[in-house]
Amino acid sequence: MELPFAEPYKIKVVEPIKKSTRQQREEWIAQARYNLFNLRSDQVFIDLLTDSGTGAMSHMQWSEIMLGDESYAGSLSYFKLKDTISSLLGMPYFLPTHQGRAAENVLFSAMIKQGDVVPGNSHFDTTKGHIEYRRARAIDCTIDEAADTTILHPFKGNIDLEKLEKVFKKYPKEKIPLCLITVTCNTSGGQPVSMQNIKDVSALCRQYDIPVFFDAARFAENAYFIKVREKEYENHGIRDIVKEMFSYVDGATMSSKKDAIVNIGGFIACRDKALFDKASMFNIMFEGYITYGGLAGRDLGALAQGLMEGTEFDYLEARIGQVAYLGNKLMEYGIPIQQPTGGHAVFVDAKKFLAHIPKEEYQAQTLGVELYLEGGVRSVEIGTLLADRDPLSRKNRYPALELLRLAIPRRAYTNNHMEYVAACLKNIYDRRDTIKKGFRIVSEAPIMRHFTVELEKA
Ligand SMILES: *Cc1c(COP(=O)(O)O)cnc(C)c1O
Repeated sequence: MELPFAEPYKIKVVEPIKKSTRQQREEWIAQARYNLFNLRSDQVFIDLLTDSGTGAMSHMQWSEIMLGDESYAGSLSYFKLKDTISSLLGMPYFLPTHQGRAAENVLFSAMIKQGDVVPGNSHFDTTKGHIEYRRARAIDCTIDEAADTTILHPFKGNIDLEKLEKVFKKYPKEKIPLCLITVTCNTSGGQPVSMQNIKDVSALCRQYDIPVFFDAARFAENAYFIKVREKEYENHGIRDIVKEMFSYVDGATMSSKKDAIVNIGGFIACRDKALFDKASMFNIMFEGYITYGGLAGRDLGALAQGLMEGTEFDYLEARIGQVAYLGNKLMEYGIPIQQPTGGHAVFVDAKKFLAHIPKEEYQAQTLGVELYLEGGVRSVEIGTLLADRDPLSRKNRYPALELLRLAIPRRAYTNNHMEYVAACLKNIYDRRDTIKKGFRIVSEAPIMRHFTVELEKA
């Protein structure tokens, strides 16, 4: 018989997780004001809140923790990382930062000013936050297919070139400091961007003399999708694809907590020495000296090793295969999800799942609370709470997609855990008509409210 798939690693260290009763969970979630971010981790059985910094490091990464060189300046761990970024991504300059948003803060301090616009494919929440904080505006140019969860488009993260060119024609060049391609596109469902689209966007940016950057948090998962979905690349190695992707951009911000499989870390990479020099000043002010950037030497070493492991085909096949495994189980149960499944998470279409709950009562958040109550599974809302209010009108922005994200930590859970999560959602789906009400906001922060929002039953 054909041999079944099996993970290309075995487990050396385990960490116990705790079950709880429904009654305990009802108390805990009420105390948390129905915000899943407010739960203690020991109140959660399976934690799919995020794939950020939650992955399991390898024995080689842990050995880098011991090898870490903690010199203030010129640490050998820094040079290890610098060499890796230069050989893997082809970027000559880099600055370490403590995570992805710090890279955004530093880079945008050097590039974005009040009144600017930054076009891209549905910017990540912290990215949008850092743009809007500077009184600039993020303009979403994602293709329309991304907003329909049932269309089987292979590259739903793609940028619509017509939408992008409209922005380039409407605003003077001085008002567009950069175009940002997020790979993979988190907000539209962990959806990849094709090499062709990266190439085309880059060419259009060149034509209008606009710099183009990656928000590269999941660049390796994006490269995997290019390999398996873009015919021309089926015989290319992941690292060759990665190299080509980066050849079309001027630089990148990176949250290493994603595809570099470390618990903390980030960086900026770029080609331009002048930009590197300008950003270095902000890095020293906000993060730390340019050879450590808010990280310990050991973190830099583990990050360098993680970049290499995160770009191995066998690892990516297991990783993305597990996400598809959960997605397929849910589809088997008739549960509406974003199709095809993305790289790091399964996104449940809460607008369809809880169609009878009004959008003003936060459908995806309502489903997230139900999933916690059902089996102690923590997920996260990618919907109206995350979309925040319009900075001018202060009205709720209702996004095209109202999703519940089940983010899968890297190398941390088994497929039995995926079975458990799918069964929880099936039970809720079968009794969905009994869920009568959603939530209303009691208090919220003026920016990035989803982290701290407090809710009550509507
Ligand atoms: C996580 C993430 C960020 C922010 O990175 P942090 O490390 O969480 O600060 C930015 N962009 C994307 C696409 C991300 O997934």
